[in-house]
Amino acid sequence: MVTELVDKEIFCQDCKEPFVFSKGEQSFFLSKNFAVPKRCPDCRKSRRKVDRKKRNQFLKEVAPEGVTDETAKSVSSPAPGSYSEASSNEEEEKT
Ligand SMILES: [Zn+2]
Repeated sequence: MVTELVDKEIFCQDCKEPFVFSKGEQSFFLSKNFAVPKRCPDCRKSRRKVDRKKRNQFLKEVAPEGVTDETAKSVSSPAPGSYSEASSNEEEEKT
């Protein structure tokens, strides 16, 4: 049985502007068991940006520059620059 989905108009909690929650998005959200969005895509994006900024600021405050450098050296792989590529390749090969 297929539930008939229709494009929904939702008012954004942040900017109070209406945005369309399309059929496609609805089925995607349903399949992922996500809650219905309360904010328009723009506000969701900007909120994410703010979160990131806050996190970066937090990291900077907690870890002084000299310490981050040393920790990064001891934690990261011996090949600087290519390590992200190598790790993603590894993951693919394992499967
Ligand atoms: Zn909004």
